[in-house]
This record gives sequence, C-alpha cells and structure tokens, in this order.
Amino acid sequence: MADAEEPEKKRRKIEELTEKMAVDGDSRDWDGRWNHVKKFLERPGPFTHPDFEPSIESLGFLLETCKILVIGAGGLGCELLKNLVLSGFSHIHVVDMDTIDISNLNRQFLFRTKDVGRPKADVAADFINGRVPGCQVVPHFNKIQDFDESFYRQFHIIVCGLDSIIARRWMNGMLISLLSYEDGVLDPSSIIPLIDGGTEGFKGNARVILPGMTACIDCTLELYPPQIHFPMCTIASMPRLPEHCVEYVRMLQWPKDKPFGDGVGLDGDNPEHIQWVFQRAQERAVDYSITGVTYRLTQGVVKRIIPAVASTNAVIAAACSTEVFKIAQGYTSIPLNNYLVFNIVDGLYTYTFEAERKENCSDGSQVPQDLQFPPSAKLQEVLEYLTENSSLQMKSPAITATLDGKNKTLYLQTIASIEERTRPNLCKTLKELGLSDGQELAVADVTTPQTVLFKLKLTS
Ligand SMILES: [Zn+2]
Repeated sequence: MADAEEPEKKRRKIEELTEKMAVDGDSRDWDGRWNHVKKFLERPGPFTHPDFEPSIESLGFLLETCKILVIGAGGLGCELLKNLVLSGFSHIHVVDMDTIDISNLNRQFLFRTKDVGRPKADVAADFINGRVPGCQVVPHFNKIQDFDESFYRQFHIIVCGLDSIIARRWMNGMLISLLSYEDGVLDPSSIIPLIDGGTEGFKGNARVILPGMTACIDCTLELYPPQIHFPMCTIASMPRLPEHCVEYVRMLQWPKDKPFGDGVGLDGDNPEHIQWVFQRAQERAVDYSITGVTYRLTQGVVKRIIPAVASTNAVIAAACSTEVFKIAQGYTSIPLNNYLVFNIVDGLYTYTFEAERKENCSDGSQVPQDLQFPPSAKLQEVLEYLTENSSLQMKSPAITATLDGKNKTLYLQTIASIEERTRPNLCKTLKELGLSDGQELAVADVTTPQTVLFKLKLTS
C-alpha cells in the first residue's frame, strides 16, 4: 500500500474518487475499477474449472453478496484483508483478540505508532474502510470462542491467519459441527470452506479445507510440531527435568501465588513475569537437585519464540486470498488440492500435495470413540493418552462421567481449585473410580467447541 505517497496527495486522491462516485450516482465504482477482476470472471481460460461459465453477473456476487470472515488481524490478517478488499470483497468481518504492540509495526502495515495499545481488529477495519471506497469491514475485538454457530453460519467462506493451533482446531471443530446430513448424505449447503494460512519464521503453509469432504485440521495433526506435555503427577511431585520445574511454577505456583495480583495471567512477553517464573523454577530445581534452569529455557517453555517474517506472511496470504477468490466465484479455477508448503529457509522451496482425510475423522456425528484400558489403569494414563495420542493431542482435557445418575468431574485442570480437588483421582485406577466397561466419558478441551464422547472398553 503506497506508503511512499505523501499524505496530502493521498487524501486529495481519495477525495477525488469519492466526489467522482457521488457524481456518477454509483455508490462505489468508477471507470475501470474492477477491470482486473473482470478478466477472471468474464472470460474462460486454461486454468478455469470445466464447469465454469464466464458471466458478467459474477462480479455482483463478489461486491454485494459474498460475506467473508477473516480470523486474525496480525501479520497474515493484515495481508489477507488488503488482498481481499482489493479483489472486490466488501463484506468482511474480522475477529482478533489482541491489541497492537510496538513490535508488530514492522510487518502489520495497517497499524501506526499512534495505534499501539488499541485492538488490532478495530484499527485494521478503520484503516481499510477509510482507505478503500465501498468497503465494510466489521471488527470484532473478541476470541473466536465468544461466538456461536449462528455467527459463523452467516459467512460464505472463512479464512484463518492464526498463530495458534488450538484456535485453528477449535475453528475447524466449529465448522464440522455446522455440517448437516440427510440420510447419511452430506448437505453441501452446510459446508463453509475454511482457508487456513500458517507461518512460522521462513516456513509457511496454505490449505483449502472443505469440512466433511477433504482432510481437516484434525486429520493432519501429526504435521504440527509436537506439543510438550508433562504428566501432572510428574510436575507436581516428581520433577526430573528443568522443564518440569518451569511447568510447575507456570501451572501451579503462578495461579496460587498471584504474584502480579488477582486475575493477572502469565504473559510470555512480559520480562518481569518471566523473571518471576525463572526465580521460582530455580528454587524448585535446587530442592530436587535439578540443573539447567536458565532464563532462556524459562522463556522457551513459557512461550515458543519464533520471529515473524513479513515475506512469508505476504506469500501465504496471497495464496489464501487467491483460494478465497476462486471458491467465492463458484470455483472459477480449480482450487488448491489441498495443502501448499512454502519454505524460504534456504533458497525457495514449495510444493503442493493432497492431504488425505482420516477414516475416523469426526464428521459432527458425535459417535463415541473407543478408549481401551485395563481396569488397573490409572486416570493419569487416560489423561496422557488424550494429550499424547497423535490424532487427539488435547491440551488440558476435562473428564467427566455420569456415575449413579450424577455428573461427576473426574479431572479438570483449567480451574485451580477444581484441579486441586480432582488431582488425587489421577493416581486412582479406573476401577477405584467406579468406572465400568461401556462407561461413557465426556471430555471437554480448548481444542474443540464440542464435548468429545468416549466409550470406555475395559480390557482384562
Ligand atoms: Zn478430519
């Protein structure tokens, strides 16, 4: 976006355009505004889909009807918003829960120094709406979990520029829960395509997900870097590694001591927070004769630090926006099938492959999955399975069961007082907990909007 242009000149240009539009009586267009887009919509081409019919009506859908949701207004999100509005999309909602930090300004080009501290979604929407005539970007300074089905159902396409695997999985789970089936046949109108972009330093990927039809986020969980999980028993009572000490402070001591006041969460970007965790972890390490707790390690455990790279964001966002355009136009061209990998660590490397759908991929039908354990297995083992199994990779599962007609929480990690109360259950066997063969377990986790049902199969 022409940053080099002098502000005065830029303002005059916008004024001119606005005036011209008023004179034409047209709400948003001037001569030739959409010529570049029309070239794709009104002519056949070597890459168009066999069923594609060029039409002068397609542009209207793009400009007036099509509703896009962009999730994330950070490095990828800024690029996505800019690409989408310049391609003609004008009804866009953007969700982001973050505020602008000074360190964002080198690549998140919709933000200026004066915006530091303000919500990213609000500033991004203001910038775009002020700059591109006819655009209506609606900001939501929220978490994706703040919205329900009815919110997500209003969009034609959802595009994600997130840096969190948990949020991606949640979004994926939400779109799968929107699918409807009639006599076992998927109703195509219930599918909302998900275009997912991801970047990490000099590596990135873009993918097209048609929920219920193609591989989803959960089908390809193995492709994500393994998350480090330590069993709670180990962290709480028998630490062996320096990481265990840091995790102890992060998960148990921080919520208990509240060193920076009630309700102040641990912020991986705050050096004072890291310093506090570092010192407590060192004390614990001394108690258990563990060596190797350093400030750097502490920071690394609390927050995985990988620098953001503007050019990776630009390429991945371009790939994602192109896919949005293709799909929005009734598949003008054949969409990406379905996973693009991009790597500029050493030279430039990119390829596309078809990620395959998992046979047991959840399709929203809520059939309980089997969990096989001997009656002598401890609840801790079930918890480890849920977090470590490569196709589940839950983060902090909460397990409940209905016992004697009563709903009983067997373990819940996210609320400190309940964690403390249910922690003894971890060391009990399934039998001791009163669980029998065929018992249903309901598991809630941040990776999914819906409770996941399991059926306990006790092996002898
Ligand atoms: Zn799947």
